[in-house]
Amino acid sequence: MAHYCIKCGSQLETRVIEGRELEACPNDDFVLWRDPKVASAVVVEVDGGVVLGRRSIDPGYGLWCLPGGFVNDDEHPAGAAMRECMEEIGAAVELTSLIGVYHVPKRDAHSMVGIAYRARLADGAELSAGSEMLEVRVFPLDSLPALAFPSHRHVLDEFLKSRASVEAASPQRAAEAVQRGKPPSPARAQSRRPRTR
Ligand SMILES: [Zn+2]
Repeated sequence: MAHYCIKCGSQLETRVIEGRELEACPNDDFVLWRDPKVASAVVVEVDGGVVLGRRSIDPGYGLWCLPGGFVNDDEHPAGAAMRECMEEIGAAVELTSLIGVYHVPKRDAHSMVGIAYRARLADGAELSAGSEMLEVRVFPLDSLPALAFPSHRHVLDEFLKSRASVEAASPQRAAEAVQRGKPPSPARAQSRRPRTR
């Protein structure tokens, strides 16, 4: 399919730039860069389980997923993660740590950079299904359902691994944390949003 320059409207031509074949304008410096989309996902811990929502939209209609979604241009990824929790599971959350940053390659769409956070519900917050969810439920870690996205399965695996290693390193602290209903060593994520990159 032909693409056109957003500056002058000329039809783009294929050119090799920095070793990649890209579409670029023959008249000016516009290049159609193939940038990844940035998405957040959140593992919200409640009573030793995690919160999942069952999707009311495609892709993945009827399947379970973590709360999360695309990061807007003017948002810090942590801010986007908290906003998505508000929209999808109806609850304010406190991010407690970063689980990891992942590359999610796609062939038929933009690839994604996924940023996964661990979180807990804010004081007094209760779960309710947002408009993109059929229902919201807390699942025990040993009986998680099939998920809509392999990347969310990967995030949960990483979460379970990091949890296991914390418990192995300090069983006492992990036991205390479970009693308090809080994750061990909560390193509160930055929620301040920088104005510039
Ligand atoms: Zn142009």
